[in-house]
Amino acid sequence: MLVITCPTCGKKIVWDDFQPTEIRCSKCGEHLNLHREFKKNIEMRDQADKGRIVRCPRCRGIVNRRWFIRCTHCGYWLFGPFSFHGKWPFILMLALVYLVFSAIYAIYLR
Ligand SMILES: [Zn+2]
Ligand SMILES: [Zn+2]
Repeated sequence: MLVITCPTCGKKIVWDDFQPTEIRCSKCGEHLNLHREFKKNIEMRDQADKGRIVRCPRCRGIVNRRWFIRCTHCGYWLFGPFSFHGKWPFILMLALVYLVFSAIYAIYLR
C-alpha cells in the first residue's frame, strides 16, 4: 500500500496492490504514474536516512553513534561532541572508578 499525493491538487490517494500502476486522481483526474511516485518515495526515505547518519567530529567519517565508540577511521574515542585519542578514555574511566570507590569507602566503611 502506498499513499500518493497528487502533484496537481495535493489530494492524497491510497494505492494498493489490486490497482493498476497507472491511476487517475479521484479529484482532478490527473494521471499518476506509480513508478514515478515509488521512486520519489524511495528518494525521500534515502534523504531521511542520511539525516540520521552520525559523523566523527574529527575526521568526518561515518560512525554508528557519537557516544563511547571508537571511530573506525581515525581511531579516536568519541564522547558526543568531543573526541579523545589513545589512553584518555581509560584514564578518565579509572579516575571515575577511583572517585566512586572512594565515595563508597567514605560512606560505608569509615
Ligand atoms: Zn489531483
Ligand atoms: Zn574519526
